[in-house]
Amino acid sequence: MSAGPARIYADWNATAPLAVEVRDAMSEALDGPFGNPSSAHAEGRRARDVLSAARRDVARWLGARPSEVVFTSGATEALNHAITVLGSGHAVATAVEHSAVLEPIRAMERARRLALTLVPVDDRGSLDPEQVATALRPETTLVAVMRANNETGNLYDTLAVAQILRQRAPRATLLVDATQAVGRIETSLDGLGADVVAVSAHKIGGPKGVGALVARGRPLDPLLRGGLQESGRRAGTENLLGIVGLAAAARLAPCVEHLVALGQLLRRELDAAVPGLIVHGEPDASARLPQTTSVRFPGFDADSLLIRLDALGVQLSAGSACTSQTRAPSHVLSALGLSPEAAFETVRISLGRTTSPEEVYELVARIARAVQLEREAVVAHRPKSLTSAQRSRSTK
Ligand code: PLP
Repeated sequence: MSAGPARIYADWNATAPLAVEVRDAMSEALDGPFGNPSSAHAEGRRARDVLSAARRDVARWLGARPSEVVFTSGATEALNHAITVLGSGHAVATAVEHSAVLEPIRAMERARRLALTLVPVDDRGSLDPEQVATALRPETTLVAVMRANNETGNLYDTLAVAQILRQRAPRATLLVDATQAVGRIETSLDGLGADVVAVSAHKIGGPKGVGALVARGRPLDPLLRGGLQESGRRAGTENLLGIVGLAAAARLAPCVEHLVALGQLLRRELDAAVPGLIVHGEPDASARLPQTTSVRFPGFDADSLLIRLDALGVQLSAGSACTSQTRAPSHVLSALGLSPEAAFETVRISLGRTTSPEEVYELVARIARAVQLEREAVVAHRPKSLTSAQRSRSTK
C-alpha cells in the first residue's frame, strides 16, 4: 500500500502555494526590465509596458477597464483604501465581513466619521438582502457585502444587494470583498453588481503582498499620497514583480468543476469517517465556495486537533488564519449563532487547484486518526471515578 503524500496542505483560504505558471512569469520578469515605471527613459518605458500589459490582463480577467484597476499591496489595503476615502455618514456591513472591512469601519466610527449598522446572517450564515434594505438610511454612503466568506465559504448575492441599492440608496457605494471568490468561482465585476471590488493574488496562486482595488466608473481619491503612480490613485513605486505575478494568476484557467468534485468527495468521506461532525454554512453546495468546509468536531478542541494534524503532516486552520493568533471565538461563527465552545471546536478545511482526490482520501484518513488520538488522550487524562467516600467529601 502506498504511504500517501507526506504533507497535505488544506489551508488554501489562508494562502495558496505559488502556481508554477506564476513562478515562471515572475522568474522571467526578474530578468526583464528593472526600471521604475515612472521614469521617462527607455528602461522606465520598458517597465511601464510590463505594468500596462499586467493591468490589461487583470482588467480582462475581471471584466473591467484597465483604467479602473489600481494595484495595491493586497486586499487589506484595497479595502482600507475604499472605506477610508468613501466612508462618511453611515455604513452598512454584514456581520461576517473580514476584519479588513470591519476594523477600518470601526476605527472611523471611533473617530465619529461614520456610524455602522451590522446586518445579521441566519444560522446557516445566509444573508437576506432585504435585511440590507432595512439597514439603509438616507445618509448611507457605503454598503459592504463580501462575495464569499473566508471561513464558511458561503456566497452572498451581491447583485441582489446592488439592485436594492439602485432603487433605495442610489448614492451609496457597494463595496464587494471578492478576495476568496475571484479565480475560484466565475466572477466578473458585472456579475457582482459592485461599484468597488477588492482582490488579492495570494489566494489564487499568485504572490503575497499584491492585489487590486477596482472602482467602476468614477475613480476613488488616493489613500496613499506622495506620488502620481497609478494615475494619482495610489502613490508609491509599483511592486512590478508582484503585479506580474497577479496577472499570471489571473490568466490561470478556471477549475470550478475540479473544486466542486473535491468538495463533494471531502464531505462524503468525512461524514463516513468521523460520525457526529457538524458542517457549518449553507447546505446548498451551489451557494458556497465548493472547496471550503467549516466543520465542528463536537467534544474536541480545534487547536489540539490542529496540533495533532500538523504532526501528521496536515495543515488546516481553526476559524480564519487571520484570527488564529487570538483565542477569541471567530466573529463569523459567532454571527451564525455558535457558542464560543462550538466555535473553538471548529476547523476550516480549504482545498485548491492542485489538490488531488488521493490527497482528499489521505486527508480524511489523517483527520480520523487525529480524532482517534485525541479521544484516547482525553480518556487517559480523565480523572478516575471517585469512590463513594470521596464523592461525599467532594460535595461538601
Ligand atoms: N478579505 C478576505 C475575505 C480574506 O480572506 C482576506 C485574507 O485572509 C483578506 C480580505 C485580506 O487579504 P490580503 O491578505 O490580500 O490583505
